[in-house]
Order: sequence, then C-alpha cells, then structure tokens
Amino acid sequence: MTTIRSRLTIWYTVAMGVVIVAFGTALVIERRHPSFDELDQRLSLEAGVALGYITESHRVLGELTTLDSVPGRGGVGWTPMKVLATDVSGYLEGMRDPLIVVDSQGNLLYASAEARTLSYSALEAMVGLLRPRPGVQVTGTVKLEAVGAVRYLAAPLPDAGPNIAALLVATPTHAVTFEPRQLIRSMLVIAPLILLGSVGVGYWLAGRALQPIQDMMDELEAITDGRSLHRRLMVPRSGDELARLAIEVNGMIARLEQSFSGLRRFTADASHELKTPLMVVRAGVERALTNPGAPADSIEALDDTLNQINRMSELVETLLTLARADEGRTTLAVEEKDLGPLVAEAAETAGMLGEAREISVTASLPEHPVLLPVDSGRIRQLLLNLVTNAIKYTPEGGAVAVELEDTGEQVTIRVKDTGIGIAAGDLPHVFDRFWRADLSRDRTEERPGFGLGLAISRWIAEAHGGSIGVQSRPGRGSTFTITLPRAAAAPSGPS
Ligand code: ADP
Repeated sequence: MTTIRSRLTIWYTVAMGVVIVAFGTALVIERRHPSFDELDQRLSLEAGVALGYITESHRVLGELTTLDSVPGRGGVGWTPMKVLATDVSGYLEGMRDPLIVVDSQGNLLYASAEARTLSYSALEAMVGLLRPRPGVQVTGTVKLEAVGAVRYLAAPLPDAGPNIAALLVATPTHAVTFEPRQLIRSMLVIAPLILLGSVGVGYWLAGRALQPIQDMMDELEAITDGRSLHRRLMVPRSGDELARLAIEVNGMIARLEQSFSGLRRFTADASHELKTPLMVVRAGVERALTNPGAPADSIEALDDTLNQINRMSELVETLLTLARADEGRTTLAVEEKDLGPLVAEAAETAGMLGEAREISVTASLPEHPVLLPVDSGRIRQLLLNLVTNAIKYTPEGGAVAVELEDTGEQVTIRVKDTGIGIAAGDLPHVFDRFWRADLSRDRTEERPGFGLGLAISRWIAEAHGGSIGVQSRPGRGSTFTITLPRAAAAPSGPS
C-alpha cells in the first residue's frame, strides 16, 4: 500500500464488503422462517398428536362419531349428519393449524376452529384432497382460494373405528416463501438501518483517511507561526503521496528559513554597520554645535540634524535588538529586582513629558516590594515605550495612570490613558513591526515614531515569559497590560 489511492481503494472495498454482508445477514435474519422440511415436521407432529389422540379415544370410548342435525336442503327441515363426538373434537380445537377429519366416504366429520375460519370452497378443496387415497399418508402443496399456497399432510386413521377414515392438517406456505413483495418490504425495513451504518462507517473512513493531512496541517500551523522555521514536518514512513508532500513542504520551509535568516542577518549587520558612522556624525555635529563662532542659522540647522541623527540611532538600535532577538542572540541580564521603583520612575518620566500639555499622571504601587527576576534595563525600556505612547496619544488635559499589582502568582503592570484610543480593527496590529495607525489620523504628524516601540515591548514581555495586551476604545483611551509570571524569566527569547 504505497499510495493513499490504493489504501482508500482497499478500505472502500472492505467497507463495501462489510455493508453487503451486513445487508445480506440482516435480510436473512429478518426473513428467517422454517423451511419446507420444518413445515412438514410440524405438520407430521400435529397429525401424530391428533392421530394418537383419536386412536386412543377410540380404544377407550369405542365409537367416536355421533349424529347431529344440520339444516336441510333449501333451509327446509333438519337433516341428520355424522360428526365427531365433542369429547374428541374439544381436544382437537386447540390445534395450531387447520385440521379436518373425514369418514371413509370422504364426508367431513370435523373441522378445527382454525379450519372453520377458511372459506367453504377452501374447506371443500381440503376434503377433496383426502378422497382419492384415504388409506395412504400424503404430503403436498396446494393452492386454496383466499388462502394461497398451503402445505398439507393427509394421514389415514386405521384404528379409529369404521366411521373415521383420515385426517388432514394444513398450513400456509407464505412463511417459507420469499416473494418479491416480501423481499421489498424487508429491504425497506433494513435499508435505512444499513444506510445509517454506512454513513457512520463512511464518516469514520473519511476521518481516518484525512487524519494524516489534519496532523500535517497542525504541524505546519505550529511551524509557520514565524518562530519555528527551524522545525520540519515529520515525513510519514508510508512513502505515499503524503510523504512526498511532507518532503516538498520541508524543502520549502528550509528555503524560507534560509531567506528569513538572510534577511535577519542583513538587518542586524546593516544596523550594526550604521551604528559607528552615526556615532561619528553625531560627535561631529555636537562639536560643531559647541563652536562659539557658529552663525545662528547654522546652529538651528545643526540642531535639526542632531535630532534626526538621534532618531536614526534609536531606529538602528531598535532594529538591531529585534534582529538579534529573532536570531535568538539577544540575552537578558536577569537579576532579582523590585519593580516598584522602575514603575515609579516611568510614571515620573511620564509626568515630566505630560507637564507641558497638562496631562496628569498618577502612579499606584503596592506598599511591599515587588521582587521579580527581570532585566531591569529592558523593563525600563518597555515601561518608557508605554508611557511615552500614553502621553503622545493623549490630548491636552488628559490623564495617564500607571499601576503595579502583585497577585502573588504574577505581577501586572497597567498603563492607562484617556487618549485618542485605537480602533477595534487596528487592535490586532498594534504590536506588529512598523505598524502605525492611519497616518491621516488626527495630528499624527505631530507624533513622530517608527511603529517599532510596541513590537519591541512585546518581545521584552515575552522574553520574560510574560505577555502584553491592549484594551482600547476610540476617543475614550487605552489600557496596556503587561503580565509577568512569578516563575524565573527566560534568559533570552525570540521575537
Ligand atoms: P510609534 O512609534 O508609532 O508610537 P508604537 O509601536 O509604539 O509606534 O505604536 C504603534 C502604533 O500604535 C502607534 O503609531 C499608534 O497608532 C498606536 N498606539 C500606541 N500606543 C497608543 C496609545 N496609548 N493610544 C493610542 N494609540 C496608540
């Protein structure tokens, strides 16, 4: 079985076979009835019982017939008629199948309760069967009016006296015949059950056939989340189409990994290479700025240049950090620290930044020290990103609150503002690299930035084994929440 195609074919064939066998078995069980042999056995048993009883009764009682009066011809008067004595006939009433007893002239002496339910002509036909050879035991099948085919057994009664010659017991054969109408009826009963079973089997088979694909999809999903490109799909040993697919996909992931790492290395190298010239340029500009003879317009131009150089250095530094983090090369300098002073410091910076625009800043800290193993430099950077954003995106007169909460198992830091907020559709993207809200948005030009601050903030939170999230409503403000677990922070982490 080297291909899914052949495997499916085999499964399908087996399933089909099972369905056919199940259908056939169900049909046989539903229509299982005695065979003709069994019918004959039943008839001979009944005949034997009746014969035994009549013979024994005759031995004990003697003559078993009496005269009874029946309405005469044309309903005029009464005619005497020989019948079986009630002592005997009473016992025979209990027979399951129609039974008749005749005398040697072929006249009916007794018809059992079952036989009396038959039509007159059917009864006549039964009597007729006994006439030709009353002395011989005969079995056969005959068609009776309104009854259909019946199996009968005619047996002589040699020891029941001169007036009793033979008996006949009969039973319909429809119980053992398999007519198309009955077949269709049975099929209609069984088919829905088999169909229901087939749906179940089909569903299970389809699930089984698709399971390896499902597994592969799960694996792929885990790999292509962007952090696990070093992982590969497991190649099934079946050597089928799926194995080939896994090999192809693995090749593709390898090529993707190569180009991704090339890209990261390029960003890291480029950022690194840019750092030194930028430092040189900055030193030059700073020196020129301190030149006392410089004209005022040159000073202004140099000042602008210095601002831009600082922005560029910041960008280069952030890019380098992210690129290194992607490569897993950034390590955290983890140390047990009290987070209280770090949060207070961030709130203080926010206060200074918001002073000019009359933004009130409050800090809420627990009274006890909140000790946690963290890279304090990175946590400071993270808090600074959040508070500068809070100030940057909060209009004049607004409020910013910084909260630190220690629940024992984890530490939560919240940075809340009453600023412009973030549209619901933008929320999933705020932590993406280089993502900034719609540039046409209110006063965005006045809020410089690269859209990297939150990306690096997320990396810092995750590198500490924690997470960062945001809740926001446009026009109402935003709340950024960092959660840091009590467990020791990872020394490094991918972005
Ligand atoms: P930027 O340098 O643009 O601030 P960030 O990564 O820090 O980059 O933020 C990404 C974007 O998320 C911002 O451009 C802004 O649109 C939005 N944003 C971040 N913080 C806030 C906030 N406190 N209020 C409103 N929008 C915010």
